[in-house]
Amino acid sequence: MSKNVADFFACDVFNDEVMRARLPKPVYKAMVQTRKKGIPLDPTYADVVANAIKDWAIEHGATHYTHWFQPMTGSTAEKHDSFISPTGNGMVIMNFSGNELVKGEPDASSFPSGGLRQTCSARGYTAWDPTSYCFVKEGSLYIPAVFVSYTGEALDKKTPLLRSMDALSRQAIRILRMFGNTTATKVTSTVGPEQEYFLIDKKMYDQREDLIMTGRTLFGAMPPKGQELEDQYFANLKPRIAAFMADLDEALWKVGVFATTKHNEVAPAQHEMAPVFSTTNISTDQNELAMEVMEKLALKHDLVCLLHEKPFAGVNGSGKHNNWSMSTDDGQNLLDPGSTPMENMQFLTFLCAVIKGIDEYADLLRISAASAGNDHRLGANEAPPAIISIFMGEELQGVLDALEAGASYKSESKVFEIGVDALPSFPKDSTDRNRTSPFAFTGNRFEFRMVGSSDNIGCPNSLLNVIVAGELCEIADKMENVPAEKFDEELKKLLVSIIKEHKRVIFNGNGYSQEWVEEAERRGLPNYRSTVDCVPHYSDPKNIALLSKFGVFTEAEVKAREEILLDIYSKTINIEALTMIDMAKKKYIPACLSYSKELCDAIAVKTQLEICACVEKELANQVSNLTKKAYDAISKLEEATAAAASKDEGNVLAMAQAYRFEVIPVMDELRAAVDALEVITPSAKWPVPAYSDIIFNV
Ligand code: ADP
Ligand code: MG
Repeated sequence: MSKNVADFFACDVFNDEVMRARLPKPVYKAMVQTRKKGIPLDPTYADVVANAIKDWAIEHGATHYTHWFQPMTGSTAEKHDSFISPTGNGMVIMNFSGNELVKGEPDASSFPSGGLRQTCSARGYTAWDPTSYCFVKEGSLYIPAVFVSYTGEALDKKTPLLRSMDALSRQAIRILRMFGNTTATKVTSTVGPEQEYFLIDKKMYDQREDLIMTGRTLFGAMPPKGQELEDQYFANLKPRIAAFMADLDEALWKVGVFATTKHNEVAPAQHEMAPVFSTTNISTDQNELAMEVMEKLALKHDLVCLLHEKPFAGVNGSGKHNNWSMSTDDGQNLLDPGSTPMENMQFLTFLCAVIKGIDEYADLLRISAASAGNDHRLGANEAPPAIISIFMGEELQGVLDALEAGASYKSESKVFEIGVDALPSFPKDSTDRNRTSPFAFTGNRFEFRMVGSSDNIGCPNSLLNVIVAGELCEIADKMENVPAEKFDEELKKLLVSIIKEHKRVIFNGNGYSQEWVEEAERRGLPNYRSTVDCVPHYSDPKNIALLSKFGVFTEAEVKAREEILLDIYSKTINIEALTMIDMAKKKYIPACLSYSKELCDAIAVKTQLEICACVEKELANQVSNLTKKAYDAISKLEEATAAAASKDEGNVLAMAQAYRFEVIPVMDELRAAVDALEVITPSAKWPVPAYSDIIFNV
């Protein structure tokens, strides 16, 4: 195959170019309107589009089609139907109607709905999302779709995202109009997610029940070498990894994913893939697709791709940096400081909307990154802390300070008056890097760094979009009717008041330090350490008010999501606890008993021969004591898990709290005992591969 990527990029995607070539002109034009402006597609055109897609898909090896959707399970779902239709003479033709393209009806009863859909009326519908391209993969035509209940409630992650994009667009356009922009008709939120992942040898994986069952190691002592030498970050790629990455690029490019960056990450065996950014909707679909392709392709290389947030304790976990911005259909990035004065005042307005929004809805952002897996990162010493704050950088902080003080802004010997006439031009790369901030301005976008590596980015982006939409709406409400001659002054006043009131959320220092935790508390910023601490705030009145005002979620939908998050949390911890118990009983305890028997046999022989057996005695003592500790912890864990599981199913919060506060501490206790045993047991006797075998092996 040619290495000119342009020759095969998106060869399996029914994209704009294919549509233009294959659809009748009016139908093509209508599709463009639908995609770009959100104008619904004329139903009579659906049959035409369906037929064209079918012909194209068959040429590309498809025999089936599937609506491809993102239920609240955390992964994607698909149900494949073939194009075949019997002709009556024992033969078939390939058929695909507009109706089949537009709507599907999977059996929805087994997907989480948080009580939105009674299992007895289990109807759910999938509906084609024409704003994201269809593609062919493994013999099926994939049709990106939303998933809603019979009564229209969102049962997925795409529906709220589309709603939030709409809300943001409408409010941002109001702001642009205030600044005299008459050409933009739509604003889209954009995102480029940097995906971190681990690659380990399949042979090692297969021997670890914990990795197989839970995606992470539940036991494992730290190897003598971790990541302290920092020799892995951006290191050259080992041949197996390089081969995997080359295959991954090619596979992603064929399905139209803009994979562009690849490198080794901080932890051993950890890597990153970043695509070129796209609309939040397309990027979300592509990230889901990318994760799936990564997992499947790894197997072809006898590797396993771990997307869990914390596969190995003591080694950096994986996140997904969510680079977010907004851009207009006339080509402006609204978070680009730009160099002309009018644009800068507009930029400051958008910036202040973000600052205020992040301060007022920090809890929502925190919730958008909440999961049992991510609890291992946030607040620990590797990922951003669980406190939401914004990093501005020196340059921009100077501008905000000057604006607030009504003073002039000095930069590199140049003095700028803050005002619409003479705003500074921001050097593009002026933002210094701060890796410890959960929400950092990086020159022309914000990088939300809390998101977990396995998360669907639909949720964080839905919430970001609606939060900013809410603030833009407030600003527009205040400013729209201000007479032109007073506009600059009034706007400046408004922005200053926003800065004054919300600058507490800005923090440019070291987010990993204990001082910041204390300082944040003084500032009154929330610090929700775990999923169970933050999720109950989803349905706080101010959050429901925002989410329902812009039609992103109804109150019932928020409550459903809250319930699902807590329910998934409890189930995750439950599986982890049971896996620990199983491994400890069947693997670790027997191994340790046999080792201590061996020691005791040696002690008996040596004592008979009157040879000193003090080393054996000391070891036997240690092994026996730790084995007893582990054994006791197993019983305690069994009890705690049973108690948590028997909580009233109707009270998802109480159950999740039981797992968080009663089960997890005992899991830690069991792990500590077993890890201590691992350190003193000969590796040949240890029943599973050690960390050093796993992470330095590829
Ligand atoms: P880093 O130096 O932060 O690791 P990367 O190059 O790995 O940077 O990733 C940066 C990501 O930000 C890319 O996915 C890139 O496409 C994305 N990005 C750049 N500009 C924008 C924008 N305006 N909106 C959203 N994402 C953007
Ligand atoms: Mg990167």
